[in-house]
Amino acid sequence: MIQIPRSIVNGIVLQARAELPNEACGLLAGKDAVAHKRYGLTNADASPEHFTFLPAEQFAVLRSARAEGLDVIANYHSHPATPARPSEEDIKLAFDPNILYIIVSLASVEPVVKAFHIRQGVVENVVVEILEGN
Ligand SMILES: [Zn+2]
Repeated sequence: MIQIPRSIVNGIVLQARAELPNEACGLLAGKDAVAHKRYGLTNADASPEHFTFLPAEQFAVLRSARAEGLDVIANYHSHPATPARPSEEDIKLAFDPNILYIIVSLASVEPVVKAFHIRQGVVENVVVEILEGN
């Protein structure tokens, strides 16, 4: 399970909509299974079908999170027109077994946010609990 404050979920959705038609991406920092902070990153691919973090931005987030005593616990990206399921490429490029992979789909009117562990090509659904009032 991962717990994400509503404000962070809203921030992901706003970023995803702002970056249409391309995929948006970023990182969540937190403690254990609770997200505390969202970092929107640049999609270096500027593509509607895939994303790549800019390494310099990614390292800056790692430093900033550590400085605040937080860990990077998840990465996220948007699927502008497809469901919130990891694509073949998402699975292939999921190198970190310790973090969660969050996908927000804008394919329907109501955004859908799902989280996954992806380990050695095996995808496991993870429950997302949205913390209201945060
Ligand atoms: Zn994807």
